[in-house]
Amino acid sequence: MKPGRHFLQIPGPTNVPDRILRAMDNPTMDHRSPEFGDLARKCLNGMQSIFKCAGPVVIFPASGTGAWEAALVNTLSPGDRVLMVETGHFATLWHSMATRLGLTTEFIESDWRSGADTERLEAALRADTAHGIKAVCVVHNETSTGCTSRIDEVRAAMDVAGHPALLMVDTISSLASIDYRHDEWGVDVTVAGSQKGLMLPPGLSFNALSQKAIDAGRTAGFTRSFWDWEDMIRINKTGYFPYTPATNALYGLAEAIDMLHEEGLDTVFARHDRHAEATRRAVRAWGLELHCRDPKFYSSSLTAVRVPDGYSADALRKVIHEKFNMSLGNGLTKLADKVFRIGHLGDFNDLMLAGTLCGVELGLKVAGVPHQSGGVDAALDYLAAEAGKPSSMANAAE
Ligand SMILES: *Cc1c(COP(=O)(O)O)cnc(C)c1O
Repeated sequence: MKPGRHFLQIPGPTNVPDRILRAMDNPTMDHRSPEFGDLARKCLNGMQSIFKCAGPVVIFPASGTGAWEAALVNTLSPGDRVLMVETGHFATLWHSMATRLGLTTEFIESDWRSGADTERLEAALRADTAHGIKAVCVVHNETSTGCTSRIDEVRAAMDVAGHPALLMVDTISSLASIDYRHDEWGVDVTVAGSQKGLMLPPGLSFNALSQKAIDAGRTAGFTRSFWDWEDMIRINKTGYFPYTPATNALYGLAEAIDMLHEEGLDTVFARHDRHAEATRRAVRAWGLELHCRDPKFYSSSLTAVRVPDGYSADALRKVIHEKFNMSLGNGLTKLADKVFRIGHLGDFNDLMLAGTLCGVELGLKVAGVPHQSGGVDAALDYLAAEAGKPSSMANAAE
């Protein structure tokens, strides 16, 4: 028995707000009934407003990994060349998937401490004068490193190079947390999942599509059945799905969309920016190192923190879990035991962040990781100054 709430501060799955839990706590409905059609249309149209796209959104009952696969197999053919950017662990997994599927992959390597290098991307595209590269794949927010790539600049690099490849973007840990614009940034396929910024349990994944992506599907040579967009798009138009949808998850999704619009997407993004900045101030005051090297790429969804050489990030996380009932993200593959990750995305507020940072500071003391005290104070000073600004007072009063 552990009294009080568990602090789930991994960067996804995130805390599911009570409103969403209550929305999902409904009898399962007939998925061919008129009521279901209303729910499905609300979800499908609502997700267009979250992706900021006018084209179709496809919803799969799957984790984000399923939507990665759907993006590739609906638009490409075996042997096609794809250019991917190694921002970290998740980009590496997507790259492995592409290789396993039989695509010919080029991987722009990096040290996992920054966002996509758009100069190298542009150079690789310029070198491909025959336009053999069919798709560019980038992870928007690299959840393993806490670095966010600039998708507007990726688009600009493709345009400057005059390259016609499709642009595919993984927004699994950025959608509804960090500003994202599918249409404006000329993205062809956006990949997303339910369990991070959308505040839902795991189990739904998404593709947002451009017309160019749909057209590419007409000649794409991959064998596909479950992941095929065509059946989905055709049947979704009537408000239904080609197979049993995850009905109760969709109740939750409709509620999440309402909540995001009630707060306002820009306010949601500003809240994430504020919590990320407060976290970075705490990390600096502790005298610890931010894993993301370049402020241009700082993530507003999570902060990855390096522990000093000779210390174990996993031992620290274990102490925090055992003594203070809080989960933090671990270092993945190349970063194992070197970093811990503080998730500050989704349903989250100033006091939850204060509690989270207190848990980290307590853990640093108990685990004997060398640091200076005062990290929590630095974060609180910043949060207080922000809350005292006239615009935030107005927001609070609304
Ligand atoms: C979580 C995550 C994934 C994996 O998604 P699953 O839902 O676990 O399949 C992929 N990419 C990014 C950027 C993620 O954060």
